[in-house]
Amino acid sequence: MKKIHLLAITFITLTIVSCKKKTAEGDDYKAFDPASLDSTYKPGDDFFEFINAKWIAAHPIPADKSSYGSFHMLDDNSLNTLRKTMEEAAATKAEAGSNTKKVGDFWTSGMDTVAIEKAGYDPIKPTLEQINAIATTDDLIKTTASLHRTFTFPLFLNFVTQDDKNSADVILTLWQGGLGLPNRDYYFLTDAKTQQNRQDYLTHIKNVFMLIGVDEATAQANANTIMGIETKMAEVSMKKEVMRDPNAVYHKMQVSELSAMTPNINWNLYFTELKTPEFKTGLNVGQPDFFKGMNDLMKSVSINDWKTYMTYHFVDGASDYLSSAFVNEGFDFHSRKMNGVDQIKPRWKRVVETADFCLGEALGEEYVKVAFSPESKQRMLEMVDNIKAALGERINTLEWMSDSTKLQAQKKLSTIMVKIGYPDKWRDYSKLQIDNGPYVINVMHGAEFEAMRNFDKIGKPVDKTEWGMTPQTVNAYYNPSNNEIVFPAAILQPPFFDANADDALNYGGIGAVIGHEITHGFDDQGRLYDESGNLKLWWTEDDNTKFTQRAGVVISQFNSYCPLDSLCINGEYTLGENIADFGGITIAYQAYTKTEEFKAGKSIDGFTPQQRFFIGFGRIWAGQYKPDAMRTQLMTNVHSPGKWRVNGTVVNVPQWYEAWGIKEGDKMYMSEDKRAMIW
Ligand SMILES: [Zn+2]
Repeated sequence: MKKIHLLAITFITLTIVSCKKKTAEGDDYKAFDPASLDSTYKPGDDFFEFINAKWIAAHPIPADKSSYGSFHMLDDNSLNTLRKTMEEAAATKAEAGSNTKKVGDFWTSGMDTVAIEKAGYDPIKPTLEQINAIATTDDLIKTTASLHRTFTFPLFLNFVTQDDKNSADVILTLWQGGLGLPNRDYYFLTDAKTQQNRQDYLTHIKNVFMLIGVDEATAQANANTIMGIETKMAEVSMKKEVMRDPNAVYHKMQVSELSAMTPNINWNLYFTELKTPEFKTGLNVGQPDFFKGMNDLMKSVSINDWKTYMTYHFVDGASDYLSSAFVNEGFDFHSRKMNGVDQIKPRWKRVVETADFCLGEALGEEYVKVAFSPESKQRMLEMVDNIKAALGERINTLEWMSDSTKLQAQKKLSTIMVKIGYPDKWRDYSKLQIDNGPYVINVMHGAEFEAMRNFDKIGKPVDKTEWGMTPQTVNAYYNPSNNEIVFPAAILQPPFFDANADDALNYGGIGAVIGHEITHGFDDQGRLYDESGNLKLWWTEDDNTKFTQRAGVVISQFNSYCPLDSLCINGEYTLGENIADFGGITIAYQAYTKTEEFKAGKSIDGFTPQQRFFIGFGRIWAGQYKPDAMRTQLMTNVHSPGKWRVNGTVVNVPQWYEAWGIKEGDKMYMSEDKRAMIW
């Protein structure tokens, strides 16, 4: 979803670890072990390495991953437990139609490698025939719609969201897409690595065609055809930096207007085939120039070439759920060549992750029975209140903001909704059809169920109890349309949250995460929405200018960080996240200073409360990347890599300098006039 602001890159994540409890003796439990610090680094020279170098050395990147950090650690600890849930469901004689039966059947179909190998790509042949029968532009649009009801998105994307300018209204949004490489930049950059990516992509397309029986020469020609089409699509795609502006991607119109703008695309046919309800208030077209470009391509690209393009995207999208030849080819390109992963994940992990997509809340319902405590929720609610109050105080004392804007900001802050743990109401899966297989058909049904569930919301009142993440996801988000912050059960674990830890570690850890999500309501994007979740300017002109100047400092700061020799962080693209990290730690710190523990000022294991707060912050981003994965992160992700989320954040925080006695001459020292100051 374009609008939801995640805490981190989402790995499909399933986690079960109950918070570490004190041992019977109680006293030997340490929420933080000072021996984990690496004293070969001075805190003022490289704070991230000082906190995390030893952890990183002890946690090498596993062969089936391209990066590894605290987030993955939580995932890994839990996958086995989720597997157990699925295995138990499969072994149970569950009632037909029940969630248990569906979870069990999904597992059985996904693990039945004998049947999967035997079937090859037979289960998808009917759809391939449908693509092959395309004879007109209308056929192309109709087939596109039927694929858009499942897991492949040729041509463009659609999703259901609240209207940016009327959050009470749920509408369909059309969005640019249809590319096989991660984004438009990959089609035009001329550095050696990107050229290699394009070469690898061509080989991959060729291999996919050969797997479905196409001869090598034709397969090679097909690859060139597809690269040609996608390069034209990339040319008319909006740049990722521009797309961060919610106003730049808001173009509400009626279907009739869309049809007039792009007459070569039969939209009525598309929506009929997609089975969306009537659009009483219109729909949003994120990038009109892209759709105008597609309108031209409808005529300039031959039907035969479109069929080639559709075939590849459909087979590639399905390949994870087909026989091993398809799975391995997909892995070789998407994971090995693009991200440097050496080895494919074990099958059971892939099945559990796919089940999370198809049956996420059915698994979540079981998950929270063992992985969530009401006490944690209580403690979280208190922290959220304290951190909200801290931002309220800071807003009042901001010298750069006018009183009228402050009043609006306070209003927005006071109405933020909070969700912790898991939804009050679980998703109803009764209409989802899952059986013993074929596996790929189960996944298709899962995707179609999800599409229909979303389309069904169009034109109906917003269900504010709904969650955009499953409870077993190690992540958090802010949703501007609901002005809400959401923390799934799975992130409420060490090193983020530990019921037995001192406040310093918790405020530095999950407190900074809470602050991060709250700040998203006030970052360069979030600040454009009012307290009701509507895109509406509530800032005075002067405040607007001052905010932009201050954000500019953060942009140049992050532009100057270059994690790979050849690649730097894109300060503009990562701005919202960097502001959220900076605002998050600032307000979490302020809230922490109100605690009895901070006031008492007692050191633990030789570290002051202030120091332990920053240790708590530094260690949540423990982790490392393979060079290819780092490159993908820098080229596609709105988040800065973990090390810079720590070092790039603390250098702006005066209390960090105080806590560690950082002075001029220390490598990370930044003079006060260079530091950012926003919230
Ligand atoms: Zn974020």
